[in-house]
Amino acid sequence: MQRRAIAVRGLVQGVGFRPFVHALAARYALGGFVRNDAAGVHIEVEGPPPDLDSFLDALRREPPPLARIEEVQTAAASVRGEATFRIVPSRAGSGAAEVGADTATCAACLRELRDPHDRRYRHPFINCTDCGPRLTVVTGVPYDRERTTMAPFPMCAACRAEYEDPRSRRFHAQPIACADCGPRLRITDAAGRVADGDPLREAAAALRAGAVVAVKGLGGYHLACDATNPAAVATLRRRKHRDRKPLAVLVRDVEAAAAFATVSEEARRWLESGARPIVLLPKRRAAAGVLAEEVAPEAADWGVLLPYTPLHHLLATDVGRPLVLTSGNRTDEPIAVDDGEARARLAGIADLFLAHDRAIHVRAEDSVWRARDGGAVPVRRSRGFAPRPVGARLGLEQTVLAVGGHLKAVFALGEGDRAWLSPHLGDLDDAGAADGFARDVLHHERLFGLRPALLVHDLHPDYASTRYALARAAREGLPTLGVQHHHAHLASVLAENGTEAPATGVLLDGAGLGLDGTVWGGEFLVGDASRAVRAASLRPVALPGGDAAAREPWRSAFAHLLDAGEDPAGHPAIAAVPASHRSVLVTAIERGVNAPLASSAGRLFDAVAVIAGFRGPATYEGEAACWLEARAAEASDAGEPYPFALAAGDGRHVVDTRPIVQGALSDARGGRPAAAIARRFHLALAAAVAATCRALRGGGGPGTAALSGGCFVNRILATEVEARLEADGFRVLRHRQVPPNDGGLALGQLAVAAAHLRAAKGR
Ligand code: ZN
Ligand code: ZN
Ligand code: FE
Repeated sequence: MQRRAIAVRGLVQGVGFRPFVHALAARYALGGFVRNDAAGVHIEVEGPPPDLDSFLDALRREPPPLARIEEVQTAAASVRGEATFRIVPSRAGSGAAEVGADTATCAACLRELRDPHDRRYRHPFINCTDCGPRLTVVTGVPYDRERTTMAPFPMCAACRAEYEDPRSRRFHAQPIACADCGPRLRITDAAGRVADGDPLREAAAALRAGAVVAVKGLGGYHLACDATNPAAVATLRRRKHRDRKPLAVLVRDVEAAAAFATVSEEARRWLESGARPIVLLPKRRAAAGVLAEEVAPEAADWGVLLPYTPLHHLLATDVGRPLVLTSGNRTDEPIAVDDGEARARLAGIADLFLAHDRAIHVRAEDSVWRARDGGAVPVRRSRGFAPRPVGARLGLEQTVLAVGGHLKAVFALGEGDRAWLSPHLGDLDDAGAADGFARDVLHHERLFGLRPALLVHDLHPDYASTRYALARAAREGLPTLGVQHHHAHLASVLAENGTEAPATGVLLDGAGLGLDGTVWGGEFLVGDASRAVRAASLRPVALPGGDAAAREPWRSAFAHLLDAGEDPAGHPAIAAVPASHRSVLVTAIERGVNAPLASSAGRLFDAVAVIAGFRGPATYEGEAACWLEARAAEASDAGEPYPFALAAGDGRHVVDTRPIVQGALSDARGGRPAAAIARRFHLALAAAVAATCRALRGGGGPGTAALSGGCFVNRILATEVEARLEADGFRVLRHRQVPPNDGGLALGQLAVAAAHLRAAKGR
């Protein structure tokens, strides 16, 4: 007889790990116990050594579907003569136990949900150890029912029996519930009056009749309406103040999505995965008219998601039509979580509220993945992924908090080899969002039992995240580290690819503060997480109006045309601007007043979009660029890239964009369609990237190119850049776990911090 103490670390709580261990112990007739602790799962087993070995072997080989074992440590213990195996209560402590991600309803629960003879038939909160809410309901660790928002719901005898039965799928399933003991749905009007009838059937009838319904989901409130009804979608847009930004659509299953979108095999896997992100799928042009065009006007894709909670399954089935499902907020505000707050904020938007009495403890917006050949690209890593650590071995020597950027805010906590990224927290423009950010940081620190010893931030002093980091550091006497925006992008893509060798970072985005005080956004940084050199960039062009240029793309067209030696007023989009305003802009650019130099790829996209025919302000970030990509996707022929030039200047290579702008202008004057101009532009930018990487490699630079920045969400640009670089013999690194946009910045900041801490120790 021998006894062994086994510590298992990784994602081992809330995933049915203890019942699994219990079953294994029974298989090999071992005595002992298992319990959760703050670091993971602790097991003690005793029996004959060969059986102990078999037990350990099976433990590693056969974990439950949602578990992820990172480390198993075993030590000898003294034999106690235990013959039975028990699951014992959790012991609180310190350390970073892993809280799981919210997981879509599993097949077994779905069968019960649809079985009229099952006691949970149509129960909107059905779940088990393989599925259900996690991060959004957890209030503390260890993960036990009393530390979830299910604490106020005492289990009925039937649920308790399943909870305590090691053979049940619901053994220690913390959010377990049924119609007798679980949360209840209710439907109310905007004034809070409760309506009669089955809340789900009432909501479904209202949706079919064209109403806007607020639906309390997993990580926040959503707004829903009939996606096939143009008037309903227009009403939702008007009330939410969301002009043109595409809305996501909930469909019953993949077949329903295939009626209007192209679903690749890989896209199907993402749609059906336990994380259930929104997947951006190319519109099927032959299927125009299935969904209201207002859902995603002039866009290349439909954003589609499958039901991920029993409530969504029931709703999708009862309505029987695709439903718009968009964050419950006014545009740019954080998603509503609290019931009272939701009612107040959504009263003017929703006709009805489908809600329930299980609280949401952590907000988590839907994740977004974009389907593309060669592997989908993350656009937003949030609900269903957070707080699972990102696969990146950083080797942090201290606990670090990286606060990320300002738009698409995500922060990251890092310790050792693990990086926990928060859900998507939206844009930090308004005060409410900034307060929510601070609250969420503290909650995550408590959840993981981490106290940062270093705060990492962007160099931009006006980012709300930077202000948070600096203020907190001053208050708590903590050191800080500022990381240049594009260096963080580079470090992010290197980290998730597990690469430490230097690369040429191709970093294309809207804007980030550069080391020289100008706006960067079309950068080629050569280096690694420890240091990087700006080896090339797009040609800097003045941005009249600074930040206003991102909202008013004609300003970029104006500046780029002027820069290219053309008369901006000759273009119809700019001729509409009053002459007096135009001359003010020319003076501002000449004198450099509120017209910072910007090497931004995003603003170049804006300029060409306007030249090709995009009109109006950008009603959401990057709208002109999305429009241009959608037009390029419609091009009927392959097209020739516009010419560009690669020049030396200021100690770096500079991509001269003037021939590109001139080419686009000449095509527009010649009456060529926007699709052709858009296509030629994408090819030109891809060719310029490849030529620059080649030139740098020719001068002794790296043979690896690392692609990051929001522009790499662009399917055509990314595909063309990768194809050219690979044909030129480059090893190409791209994002697959975190977004190339600013949602991936925090991971890069952690990686830079890890390098910084190692260097500091070496000194
Ligand atoms: Zn389940
Ligand atoms: Zn019950
Ligand atoms: Fe960026």
